Amino acid sequence: MARDYYEILGVNRNSTPDEIKKAYRQIAMKYHPDKNPGNKEAEEKFKVAAEAYSVLTDPEKRKIYDQYGEDGLKGGGFGGAQGFSGGAYGFDLSDALRTFMEGFGGFGGFDDFFGGGDRHGRRSSSQTGSDLKIKIPLTLEEINTGVNKKIKIKRLEICEQCEGTGAKPGTSRLTCPVCKGTGEIREISRSIFGQMVNVRPCSNCRGEGTVIEHRCPACGGEGRIKESKEVSIDIPAGVSTGNYKTMHGEGNAGSRKGANGDLIVIFEEKPHEFFIRNDDDVLIDLWVTPSEAVLGSEIEAPTLNGRVNLTIPSGTQPGKLLRLKHKGIPHLNRSGRGDQIVRIQILVPENLTEKEKDIYREIGKFEAKKIHKESRYSKIRY
Ligand SMILES: [Zn+2]
Ligand SMILES: [Zn+2]
Repeated sequence: MARDYYEILGVNRNSTPDEIKKAYRQIAMKYHPDKNPGNKEAEEKFKVAAEAYSVLTDPEKRKIYDQYGEDGLKGGGFGGAQGFSGGAYGFDLSDALRTFMEGFGGFGGFDDFFGGGDRHGRRSSSQTGSDLKIKIPLTLEEINTGVNKKIKIKRLEICEQCEGTGAKPGTSRLTCPVCKGTGEIREISRSIFGQMVNVRPCSNCRGEGTVIEHRCPACGGEGRIKESKEVSIDIPAGVSTGNYKTMHGEGNAGSRKGANGDLIVIFEEKPHEFFIRNDDDVLIDLWVTPSEAVLGSEIEAPTLNGRVNLTIPSGTQPGKLLRLKHKGIPHLNRSGRGDQIVRIQILVPENLTEKEKDIYREIGKFEAKKIHKESRYSKIRY
């Protein structure tokens, strides 16, 4: 469904970035999840507004959007800095919260806007959780089909006992005696240039302005606990080593109600028993006997998509490449797939009996007549 970002924000097509920011801020404040707990409709409006805002305040994206609409912004490339889940489209809540926070003052959080904090302009000490990185080894078969992996990761989760406050349930926080609740320490120093005021966050309360009277026994006052969580990761067919996927909000929980970090999943291709990958083609050596090469034969060959019967024409030379169309790896960002390339190798029989050797001696006599001396040499192709 095409959505009109201008309509969503209630601005017109010529609006300046400032006007857009103002309009977005109004909507975001109204529908912010903190103000509308559990209200799905508000959450949706909050997300859509953030998406619209992020596009219309980015001159590049706005230009594309004006020209091609929402479709023009879709399908950002895979890999590189973007990751295929990136982009502005289909914002989830953590994207929206991040956009909101980035738009309006760092990690200052929400209280500042509603006067919910104190009046000294103290910043909330909430912080976005850190990102986590994991590597996922994948077999070529998994890469060929795409796969869903359920991976256990250890990450910081909000402590359920204290709901992230760090205070023992039933106790409250006290105004920090060091900074008297301001969260900052002012130091006045004198120098030859005159009086200087230095402001730094209060170390006693980590800038929070309050301290815990009794620490939460579960988390020791941190508000977060390391837990093992299972994450479900959908991996599309065709990924390569070094490609990654960013799972927004699946990283460590933020402290003091800060947003979650991201989980960055990096893919790694495991070596295959037979196949070598070259872009989206797969390469394999197929060993045939001298008689199979001379007379021609049908040989069963493995592919990533099951076995196929391969026709070896009579007179097939070693090193010949046979191409099995569309039996390779699916392309990641477009339809279709690579090929399988089969290189013919000659398997020379060993440990022959006297009788078998006699047969080869017979063949040898006949071969000597057939092969011209010059055809024994050629330039190495590589
Ligand atoms: Zn706790
Ligand atoms: Zn303090």
